Amino acid sequence: MQIFRTPREMQDFVRESRRAGKTIGFVPTMGAFHAGHLSLMRRAASENDVAVVSLFVNPTQFNEAADLAAYPRDEAADARLAESAGIQVMYAPDASAMYPPGFATTVSVAGVSEVLEGATRGPGHFQGVATVVAKLLNAVACDRVYLGQKDAQQVAVLHRMIRDLDFDVDVVVCATVREPDGLAMSSRNARLRGDDRTRALALRHGLDAALGEIARGERAMERVQMAGLRAMHEKGVDPEYFAIVDPTSFMPLARLNGDVLIAVAARVGPVRLIDNELVHVS
Ligand code: AMP
Repeated sequence: MQIFRTPREMQDFVRESRRAGKTIGFVPTMGAFHAGHLSLMRRAASENDVAVVSLFVNPTQFNEAADLAAYPRDEAADARLAESAGIQVMYAPDASAMYPPGFATTVSVAGVSEVLEGATRGPGHFQGVATVVAKLLNAVACDRVYLGQKDAQQVAVLHRMIRDLDFDVDVVVCATVREPDGLAMSSRNARLRGDDRTRALALRHGLDAALGEIARGERAMERVQMAGLRAMHEKGVDPEYFAIVDPTSFMPLARLNGDVLIAVAARVGPVRLIDNELVHVS
């Protein structure tokens, strides 16, 4: 597996691959790989001639210095895992290569960036995400980019950016990979200790309760939301939000019909967790 450290090195490789008629699949990540990341990489490897993963803990998308400092980093272990998942190229730029002195450009996606995660983590979060992914897509210039449904709002923000800025790339959204007990895999789960690991299941319980209400025929958003909140409180967790929204605009829905996203965020011990379920209501 090859490792590149600068946009120029990455662009030179991609230009050669494209000249040779190869298709390129790309998985942007912040490292600390788990089975969720690896499922995206395997899919990228199976659907393209060349699979590229980026590993960059992007400082501009963190709204808490402590979260950035505690973010797990092990490039050597990540490189081995990526290779085992069929990745040929790892793009792991230094912060100085991504944000050289004088860097002054920000990509900002209005509307869908401003609610839920955007409202809780502040406007800088999705600006940081959109800006770094725009840069990564210019460096990797792939045919397909692979994103996880786990970060549903990130998917919606990046879809909007890719459409609005005419990036010539298809977005492939991959299902959330979970632990056997239903907890969505996350690099932050490693910081859940003892009781907190059990309480973390409150997110899954809340989503299941909401899905249960919908399956029983409930279509009023507030009643479905109440069921989710009640289930989470029973597990001793008060979420930052438990929202039922349109999966493209992230605007709240009064009555449930068509594609509906149930999204939840909660602090459990030292960790902030998110999860969601996408459901088609008829
Ligand atoms: P991250 O390194 O956390 O920025 O995640 C990199 C990519 O992996 C993003 O597209 C995430 O949505 C995706 N991802 C993270 N966790 C999971 C998971 N449990 N299942 C599927 N995809 C995931």
